[in-house]
Amino acid sequence: MALLTGAFAPFFELVGALALLLIVAVLVVAAVLLVLTVASIRSGRLYFPRLLRPGLTALEGLMRALFKAAGLEDQEMLAFFVKLGNTMNARAFAEVPVAERAIFLPQCLRNATCPADLTPEGIRCKRCRRCTVGEAMDVLEGLGYRIFIVPGSSFIKRMVRKYRPRALIGVGCLAEVKEGLEMADKLGLVGLGVVTMKEGCVETLVDWTSLYETALLGLAPSAVPEDLHLPAHEEPACNPAVNQDQPVRPDVADGRAGP
Ligand code: SF4
Repeated sequence: MALLTGAFAPFFELVGALALLLIVAVLVVAAVLLVLTVASIRSGRLYFPRLLRPGLTALEGLMRALFKAAGLEDQEMLAFFVKLGNTMNARAFAEVPVAERAIFLPQCLRNATCPADLTPEGIRCKRCRRCTVGEAMDVLEGLGYRIFIVPGSSFIKRMVRKYRPRALIGVGCLAEVKEGLEMADKLGLVGLGVVTMKEGCVETLVDWTSLYETALLGLAPSAVPEDLHLPAHEEPACNPAVNQDQPVRPDVADGRAGP
């Protein structure tokens, strides 16, 4: 008590004032981010993505609480994070040669009776045609991609260390894709995410067309086979909420998506 009223009083007053100023500044920034995020979600356009992304990342805990208070569902928030990351990364991704890109598919896309073997390089598809993964891998490998079927959480980092891709596409449920984009950022890679159409642990679905469109970003038309087609037996995309999570064209990835 004596300290507060003694010679140190001005110092403590200054610290208190600065702390108060910082709290007010954070709350103002959080309020701006909240308004921009809600407006972006409601309108389907990204407003000031260059401000949103670092802001939401730096204040994620607080923003999640505010989003909840504003009535936003968890899935809605995750989808927005993914859309933001995809939009911001699309241009940089398009500039990476395909030989330096990798695609990571979740094992849950496989048929429940998949006969593939687990290897140090992931699950090795046998092209048995019980699911569409094998056919899609042929198409994507034909484009020049290195493809992995991921057996576990530490696998991606291991393959990144081994093959040193500069860019990657991760397929998975919303939460996985969001975490994957964050991991790619931390590893200094350009990441794009494609969200599965059906969540779960077995026989999930992905919109292969969206994955192909993502994979084709930046590729010269001459590099795309004329017979590029959907894997047999696959339904086209039918869930608009999923399509919103796909990356946009590079020409809108530099912030011009806003007003
Ligand atoms: S096509 Fe490949 S991934 Fe699909 S069930 Fe057969 S071996 Fe498994």
